[in-house]
Amino acid sequence: MYTAQDEKRLYEQAKHLLKQNAGKAADTIVQLREVINYADWKYYVQNDPTLSDSEYDGLYKQLKNLEEKHPELITADSPTQRVAKGLSERFPTVSHLVPMLSLDNTYNADDLTDWDRRCRELAETDDIEYCVEPKYDGAGISLIYDDGALTRGATRGDGVMGEDVTTNIRQIRAIPLSAELMKYGVKQIEIRGEIVIHKKVFDAFNKQRVAEGLSPLANPRNAASGTLRILDPSEVRKRGLNSILYHVSSYTMTSPRPSFDKLTMTEEREVLPGSEHPKELDTHYDTLKWLYSLGFPTPAPDMKVFKHVDDVIRYCHEFEGRRDDLPFEVDGLVIKVNDFAMQEKMGSTSHHPRWAVAYKFKARQATSKLVDVEFQVGRTGAITPVAKIEPVHIGGVTVTSVSLFNEDVIREKDLRIGDTVLVERAGDVIPYIVKPLAELRDGTEMEIKFPTHCPACESQLERQPEEAAWRCININCPVQLVEHIIHYVSKDAMDIRGLGAANVQKFYDLEILKDIPGIYRIDWNKLKGLEGFGEKSITNLQQAIEQSKKQPLNRVIFGLGIRFVGETTAKTLANAASDIREFYTWDAGRFATLEDIGPKVATSVVDFFAREENRDVIKKLDEAGVNLLNEHKGQTAADGELAGKTFLFTGTLSHFKRSDAEKIVEDKGGSILGGVSAKLNYLVVGEDAGSKLEKAKKLGTVNILTEQEFLKLVEGDFA
Ligand SMILES: [Zn+2]
Repeated sequence: MYTAQDEKRLYEQAKHLLKQNAGKAADTIVQLREVINYADWKYYVQNDPTLSDSEYDGLYKQLKNLEEKHPELITADSPTQRVAKGLSERFPTVSHLVPMLSLDNTYNADDLTDWDRRCRELAETDDIEYCVEPKYDGAGISLIYDDGALTRGATRGDGVMGEDVTTNIRQIRAIPLSAELMKYGVKQIEIRGEIVIHKKVFDAFNKQRVAEGLSPLANPRNAASGTLRILDPSEVRKRGLNSILYHVSSYTMTSPRPSFDKLTMTEEREVLPGSEHPKELDTHYDTLKWLYSLGFPTPAPDMKVFKHVDDVIRYCHEFEGRRDDLPFEVDGLVIKVNDFAMQEKMGSTSHHPRWAVAYKFKARQATSKLVDVEFQVGRTGAITPVAKIEPVHIGGVTVTSVSLFNEDVIREKDLRIGDTVLVERAGDVIPYIVKPLAELRDGTEMEIKFPTHCPACESQLERQPEEAAWRCININCPVQLVEHIIHYVSKDAMDIRGLGAANVQKFYDLEILKDIPGIYRIDWNKLKGLEGFGEKSITNLQQAIEQSKKQPLNRVIFGLGIRFVGETTAKTLANAASDIREFYTWDAGRFATLEDIGPKVATSVVDFFAREENRDVIKKLDEAGVNLLNEHKGQTAADGELAGKTFLFTGTLSHFKRSDAEKIVEDKGGSILGGVSAKLNYLVVGEDAGSKLEKAKKLGTVNILTEQEFLKLVEGDFA
């Protein structure tokens, strides 16, 4: 539809139009329509926005203003005369009882003053109350309640038709499935609002995505609207969506005509139904308060009513200053004429109600240039690419660097050095690059080369097939050392008391401790005079370190911090060798023959033991006298009642602690597996057992035991 040349020209045209009101009205209108149509196409058809939201709004507003001044120039195909289309096919399409209009936008005090003037003209009075509430950045929805029960939830769609996503809406706990509407004579009601996602939930969700090797979602709005369209409602439930409802678009009443108790506004905004003078609800404020009192998530607690536009403006500015303190992403405020009769008198255009307007906060998107990419080593060895961009001001903060998360993000977005990029910073969410503006490339852009070696220690990087991150797995990588040492001395590993995280960091900073073997070569003279290290505590620490040398091999293996090797796997490994150094000659296939070790773990273990620097650490531990042997190799297969048998516990156990039960199994020569597989002999099932039980049943080869049956098997041990 558009050639690359068209795209470049239209982008520049948009930027030009944003800078100044140029030329004759007729010409400017044509140019504005051209770029707006283009932007719509990019957004709705290509799903790949070129302009930031506020840039788009700015152009749209210019066009609208010009058309208002020159109504003779309005054409049927002007973007102002059309409602955007674009529905997914996956859910049934339904029509809204009343079209869902969008709100007109304002950006500054002058805009609001103008709007107030028009309101007073239309209402033919200067006595207007304005209700102000936050404008949430979410996915628009419509809810219908019949006889007090939620019967339909639909997306906004194009405003006339939306998608029926009732099943998913029902998963959102903020939305009541029923409410005492009948008590007030409400037969049917349509309530509008947004599906929103808590910033913290959104952050966690993105972290999870990055950990799974997926690209993070752009903003809470995308996360909300994407989730509404997931075909698996249980997945929707897991996402923890929320909702804010802020408009009653229509209702029908039972006969005889019922009455609402008048909700009175007091200074404290304490409004409850049940006063002595029944009266119909006649303001927006009272209606949302009433819905709130029925359990609906309305913005009632954050609503304010003002009589003068100057107060509205002051409040808007004040509120913008604390937008980051709110749990949900808010991109502005909505100002509504409070009185319903007045709203009706003022009416709507085909797009916007005349009695409501949005006040948009300053843009949090901007374009900048990607100058360079730096690669940082995290404390767990993951390499994070960080884009350096030309300084750009977004939402009150100057952004100069932006995380790119992992290599896949760079490839998926096709980012190149020298690209013009669209940067967004939403609330507390860290800034990120939405995308490069590929249409602006001139051929000098350069590919981003991901390093093959660690920027901190130059050791070769590894990437597991199922992981998004490249990692430095050098045990001596300086960035990771502190974390490694903390893990090694931890309770579940070598259990060296007196050498907790804080002391490890302190010793490292003072160069008393440089690596894991260094624990056994501490220069005790350096500790003398150090705060908190009297003679007694030094003696205790020395003893703890000395005792750790006798720890069993499985603890040493766990303490080495091999990726994917948890306590259980460490035990399996320790049990398979009489000396840790036997593993130097093992290949992945051999490791994979062990219980509970899959290809992923096997590869990781082989990689670890293949490295010279890791072998060097093991050598130094040996020299220090740390036990690296297992004199009881293979013992579990030889003796004990449960010898060679494998167990797994699932669900909530009521008779004993899981760790105790596992210990009994191991003491009797059995072993604990991490998951259900053909290698599993016994699955012990507590309450609320889930997928593991299902899987075991499906396999058909696993003995499924209740707790009682398990007790019988190990009789006496829990007496
Ligand atoms: Zn490194």
